[in-house]
Amino acid sequence: MNTDPARVRLYPVIKAVRGTRDLFGEELGYKRWIEAAAGQVLEAAGAQEIETPILEEAPVFEKGVGPTSDVVQKEMYAFTDRGGRRLVLRPEGTAGVMRAFLEHGMKVRPAPVKLYYRGPMFRAERPQKGRYRQFYQVGYEAVGLSEPAVDAEAIALLVDLMKALGLQRFVLKLGTVGDPEDRRRYNAYLREVLLPHREALSEDSRVRLERNPLRILDSKDRGDQEVLARAGVRPLFDFLSEAAKAHYRAVKGALKALGVAFEEDPRLVRGLDYYVRTAFEIHHPDLGAQAALGGGGRYDGLTALLGGPSLPGVGWAVGTDRVILALKAEAIPAPPGPAPLLYLVPLDAEAVVEALVLAESLRPRLPVELAYTPRKPGKGIREAERRGARYVGFLGEGERARGTISVKDLVTGEQQELPREKLGSWLEAL
Ligand code: AMP
Repeated sequence: MNTDPARVRLYPVIKAVRGTRDLFGEELGYKRWIEAAAGQVLEAAGAQEIETPILEEAPVFEKGVGPTSDVVQKEMYAFTDRGGRRLVLRPEGTAGVMRAFLEHGMKVRPAPVKLYYRGPMFRAERPQKGRYRQFYQVGYEAVGLSEPAVDAEAIALLVDLMKALGLQRFVLKLGTVGDPEDRRRYNAYLREVLLPHREALSEDSRVRLERNPLRILDSKDRGDQEVLARAGVRPLFDFLSEAAKAHYRAVKGALKALGVAFEEDPRLVRGLDYYVRTAFEIHHPDLGAQAALGGGGRYDGLTALLGGPSLPGVGWAVGTDRVILALKAEAIPAPPGPAPLLYLVPLDAEAVVEALVLAESLRPRLPVELAYTPRKPGKGIREAERRGARYVGFLGEGERARGTISVKDLVTGEQQELPREKLGSWLEAL
């Protein structure tokens, strides 16, 4: 397909919805590669793939992700269907996976139950580079154990995935958001120290001051960040329980033993409410404002919010679209798209069906394409080159009489005539 805008006449008919885009060619090649690499890395650690529906009942996220999160407050594509059900196009993967975990009684499996998923997510955000309304994630969840080693393993697997793709310039940030009681104490403290600065905060952060002051730390607003600096806000870490601090130390110790490099970020606040204790993000320096390639953390108790027993869990999600941007920034090429090994060129009308029959006899073992009307050899060669074929095969009157095909190697320029029935084994032997 020719996608060069200078050569394609674009008709302004119906376009993809704002914030969504069509994936094909190189872009889709990257995406499939990332997903395949994730499958390899995660299955080697015992994870099983799970595919949950894109449509979920709204409470899965209202309860799961949390009613004060930006995702639920402002970014969900929610609607009422014809049956009066409140449905949502999923904005993230974890809550739906945990809903499925409970629905199918996966708790009886040996812990931790490791699951991974991939697929589209939807958020009504302002589209920009690296931020879309339909975007793609690959995610991993390990449910059932609260041991810090499970956190460290999850983080190591995320780093393994980055490395499997050949990425080098990423940074792993590690922090801890404590337990809910720690955060309640910290939120009370934040309210106290920030209240005198209320007027200097952004409108969003004034709302956050009431609902969930911790979120203000995550604000992108310059003014908010100045207020935080001026107020000399102490880090959340100072408010953690001994148990939460010990957990954090154990995660760090395990990461060091694994040789996983990380930067501690005491200000790391994840956008979703369900995280406890461990929080982490992978950033890429070349991605500008949307620098987070992925992130995750521990989410003990999420299952209880969804109406099940309270189970510990830890996981992460990677933004496939942003990983693609990072791969491009590091000049890591997409895997080559499909190209024929052989391009068949009929030199007369009778040879068209001969070429088709020959192509079908070689497929699917060998990728073969053909021209469907007679061609002059020169034109046939140019077409073969445009399709990325290595060999071009000519079928004309002489070849028909002798039961052969003339094969030209487009790299070396060598040409030879082979019996047709030998063509397949000859190509395979190469
Ligand atoms: P989150 O579920 O918010 O923790 O996001 C995990 C990862 O998904 C982020 O680090 C991004 O790489 C990616 N992501 C989140 N929102 C978007 C978006 N609107 N467009 C593209 N990627 C996104």
